[in-house]
Amino acid sequence: MSLSIDLIPILQDNYAFLLTTPDGLCAVVDPGDAQPILDVLNARDLTLSYILNTHHHYDHTDGNAALVAATGARIVAPASEKERISGISFPLSEGNIFQFGHFDFHAIETPGHTRGHISFYCPQAGVLFCGDTLFSMGCGRLFEGSAEDQFQSLQKIRALPDETLVYCGHEYTQSNGAFCQSIEPDNKALAQRMNQVTTLREAGTPTIPVSLATEKQTNVFLRAKNAAELGALRTKKDHA
Ligand SMILES: [Zn+2]
Repeated sequence: MSLSIDLIPILQDNYAFLLTTPDGLCAVVDPGDAQPILDVLNARDLTLSYILNTHHHYDHTDGNAALVAATGARIVAPASEKERISGISFPLSEGNIFQFGHFDFHAIETPGHTRGHISFYCPQAGVLFCGDTLFSMGCGRLFEGSAEDQFQSLQKIRALPDETLVYCGHEYTQSNGAFCQSIEPDNKALAQRMNQVTTLREAGTPTIPVSLATEKQTNVFLRAKNAAELGALRTKKDHA
């Protein structure tokens, strides 16, 4: 049973993800802009049923209203963000499961970047949509949470199966990787991933998705042993 996932580049460096089941049920994750999503829906004659939001930031939600108006799609978003994301039909908290056709989307609360951030994990498809919590070789800025919050959030992601494919909200991979290399210059897996990333970017290809196994080997934020270490890395990156 396969879930089809299309990456749709939007705005400056965001990705929205269009999800389609074998039955033709369709959802979009983090539409920061509506038109690029509508273009794909129209081109492929798809009907959008759901909008999934990981967090309230405009570059993940600004397309909501126009997509709802055009398609009648219903919004699946963090229960704790009712004040900041309007029109939520399916408010999710830790451990809640959103049923998307035959696919289960588990809500994992991953605060740190924002208070009410959730990540969506689908075990049947082996995929994680983690918004701005984890990036390939990076992690989100701590706008509303502490290093401790973010550390606990990353630990939850670490606990998922190694083969999980990670779909994050931004194409920040190349600059994140350069920072990781400044911290771990002798990390061979990191050097290998950076070669791959350079090749992909030169071809204009997304570096997403990436396996969690690769992230565990290359992402210094995910490799941090404790909240203090993570906080120090985040501060260093903020000033890099
Ligand atoms: Zn954000």
